[in-house]
Amino acid sequence: MKCKEYHKLISTEIDDEISEDERESLKRHLDQCPECRQFKAFLLSVSGVHVGIKMPNLHLQFLTELCPGFMRKMMSGKLPAG
Ligand SMILES: [Zn+2]
Repeated sequence: MKCKEYHKLISTEIDDEISEDERESLKRHLDQCPECRQFKAFLLSVSGVHVGIKMPNLHLQFLTELCPGFMRKMMSGKLPAG
């Protein structure tokens, strides 16, 4: 699988909608791919921000493309505040 596909899995994992098989394969990939580890750290850091915070357009576009599930939550205000 390509990194971009793992990026989607990372977002799925953060959404807590990942299957056990996917989780295992993602874990194995993260062990050997610093880029994807960085992506995960980035997603976790933005998932902790308050809803309504202004994000740079680049990030917004990036997230909308790679993490539709995450963005849905973000837009509907279902992320835990703080
Ligand atoms: Zn990767």
